[in-house]
Amino acid sequence: MSATTPAGRLYGVGLGPGDPSLMTVRAVEVITGADVVAYHSARHGRSIARSIAARHLREDHIEERLIYPVTVEITDHPGGYQGAMDEFYEEASARLAAHLDAGRSVAILAAGDPLFYGSYMHMHKRLAHLYPTEVIPGVTSVSAASARLGTPLCEAEEVLTVLPGTLPEEELTARLASTDAAVVMKLGRTFPKVRSALERSGRLDEARYVERATMEGERTGALADVDPESVPYFSVAVLPSRVDAAPAPREQGEVVVVGTGPAGPLWLTPETRGALAAADDLVGYTTYLERVPHRPGQERHGSDNKVEAERAEFALDLARRGRRVAVVSGGDPGVFAMATAVLEAAAQDAYAEVPVRVLPGVTAANAAAARAGAPLGHDYATVSLSDRLKPWEVIAERLRAAARADLVLALYNPGSRSRTWQVGKARELLLEFRAPDTPVVLARDVGGEGERVRIVRLAELDPADVDMRTILLVGSSQTRTVRRGTGEEIVWTPRRYPED
Ligand code: SAH
Repeated sequence: MSATTPAGRLYGVGLGPGDPSLMTVRAVEVITGADVVAYHSARHGRSIARSIAARHLREDHIEERLIYPVTVEITDHPGGYQGAMDEFYEEASARLAAHLDAGRSVAILAAGDPLFYGSYMHMHKRLAHLYPTEVIPGVTSVSAASARLGTPLCEAEEVLTVLPGTLPEEELTARLASTDAAVVMKLGRTFPKVRSALERSGRLDEARYVERATMEGERTGALADVDPESVPYFSVAVLPSRVDAAPAPREQGEVVVVGTGPAGPLWLTPETRGALAAADDLVGYTTYLERVPHRPGQERHGSDNKVEAERAEFALDLARRGRRVAVVSGGDPGVFAMATAVLEAAAQDAYAEVPVRVLPGVTAANAAAARAGAPLGHDYATVSLSDRLKPWEVIAERLRAAARADLVLALYNPGSRSRTWQVGKARELLLEFRAPDTPVVLARDVGGEGERVRIVRLAELDPADVDMRTILLVGSSQTRTVRRGTGEEIVWTPRRYPED
């Protein structure tokens, strides 16, 4: 940059989705006033961006065509694909810098929006901190595609997820299952994988397809009907808003038994989140239903914790009438929770045809263990201290057997307002086999507002500290504790067991 010539301005110009009349007034102004117009293109030389802006280009514009050395083909560059690209970006930005240094303004054309999956960004990162720069936003293909479909994209509290189709199939499946609305970009070769992810996340029926939105050759339709061979890169998949979506007519519903994990949404798996969102009816204990976000059109059937069998039959009856039903438990639905009740009811002839699925959740033992360190790192046993569904003698015998075997113990349902003596009895029994200073994790309301996790010694375990929201993890002879530099005490059980 010489002292006499002020540097030129750099512009990243968003051109919108394809129809030149969808360029902004500012984009046209900037292109018209620029000295240099630059655009990326593949080796064949055609540039979609240039064709969108063509009517605003003049003979006296200097055109800089930035030709990619490779697109998807194999390269003989010693640094491979990345090496070839890095070299290309360096050369291209040096070329534009020379114009800027000479005082010429440079408009880099970008289809859609420049900062949204665009090539412009590679130039921006190399030049914007060195030259005065302005980015002109553009209408993205996301907006263009949903405008073309003419259906709401996302409404009220719905979440819109934008996904590159280049992600691995498992990742796409998880994201599609757990979002409301979605747009998947970069189809083309990725189409079969994206279609499969839509199917696996149970969302293929909702999916729409938009090709070349607002351009010549535009095509829209149901994604399920699209021939994979015919799909170009310039196409997207759209899952529109479900707010007013009529439930698909179904002959057969299903029951999905899910667990919320120990507390709120941070603990939901993507699969469970998806099943909860897709359900027509939610059935469960009111406390657990309250953890699930409200969704218009969805019915909630909250009930008291005790009538499990009735609740299971109620859910199966709904499913038999074509409804998609989620039966909601806390934690994992298979751990002292609704999954067995549902499967037991479903074993009756009347429900033989009703599909039932169980989805795993984060159980209280794992959540509590993680908070305290790694007390379950070696063999452990899970026991419910509730004698509502089994005699205390059975519980006592199992505790003795586990203690004799030197297993760590995860004790669910240790007590409640009406069951107050079980913890005291269990402590006495365990002290026959374990040292008084055995570490015990006392974890209450893990993940919730009343979370309290403490490490106490077995001899000091006080039944008054235990309630319905508490789980106990009792160490084995090998379980260790240490106080960290932060003052916090942590606990773990080594994976190696001593030989005797
Ligand atoms: N299905 C649940 C367990 C249901 S039994 C699960 O997998 O976690 C209910 C018992 O689980 C409670 O009495 C308590 O012992 C434990 N529990 C559930 N959520 C908890 C939480 N957030 N913190 C501590 N313990 C919890």
